Amino acid sequence: MNLRCQSCGAELVVAAESFSTVCPYCAAPSVVERPASEERPVPSFALGFALTREVATERVKHWLRTRHPWTHGGLKRASLQDVRGVYAPAWLYSARAESRYSASIGENYQETETYTTTENGKTVTKTRTVTKTEWRSLQGEHSEYVLDVLVTASRGLPNAELEALEPFDLRALARYEPALVAGWIAEEPSLSREESLRQAREESRERIGRRLSAFMPGDSHRELRHDTRLEEESLDVCLVPVWVLAARYAPDAPPLRVVVNGQSGEVFGQAPVSWAKVLLTVLAVLALVLLLAWFSSRGGGR
Ligand SMILES: [Zn+2]
Repeated sequence: MNLRCQSCGAELVVAAESFSTVCPYCAAPSVVERPASEERPVPSFALGFALTREVATERVKHWLRTRHPWTHGGLKRASLQDVRGVYAPAWLYSARAESRYSASIGENYQETETYTTTENGKTVTKTRTVTKTEWRSLQGEHSEYVLDVLVTASRGLPNAELEALEPFDLRALARYEPALVAGWIAEEPSLSREESLRQAREESRERIGRRLSAFMPGDSHRELRHDTRLEEESLDVCLVPVWVLAARYAPDAPPLRVVVNGQSGEVFGQAPVSWAKVLLTVLAVLALVLLLAWFSSRGGGR
């Protein structure tokens, strides 16, 4: 059965028997039935869950235990029963990158310098070795394949969260079969191909930038710029396994959420600081200080 979360926009596909009116990504109780969408791309690949629900729940529990005491308690109150496995859609992008780059390359050299200083009231001349850098400009071309850039295709799972869960072991990638996701919650790509493509290209250019930076000669470099053309692009929908615990503490506030890589067990969560707790702590400390001051003034009076 096809569902849409009216809060985060996730487009879910669930088995009729596991029908839920609560969104697994954002815990919003505003999930409605939607017509099947035909124009959506069918996944080409999928990564299966390697982490059981029990292990995932343990990871979430551990994450919750190790939070800062000032962290918002909303997630701690969430029931661990609500840890749900979701096959989240992502785009798997590869391309050939043709770059032209320019940079300033710094070469260090030592120079002996004479200087004067005062020793025992006398002016003396001494020498010391200093490191200086000579800059020269460098231009060049670079060509390489950018492989397996993964960007989210889900409205429910922002790209930053998917990135925090990476890497996924893509050696386990299998051709998508509907049987694989049977019984699970799966999401159809709810972000457009264009939006995801833009994100994938940006990530690819950043990756090229880091590669070029690592390969620059010399002792240091600055002003590295590159103009990269991406060719022979390929983009496939891939389902990735994610365990999600979502909770809401206010209808208008963003959901609190812990996500677990369903393959590696990597955990990522965002739990904001609770200002009420900070205030309570400050008041408690203040009360203690006042109490101590009062005791010491009584002691001093005796
Ligand atoms: Zn939602």
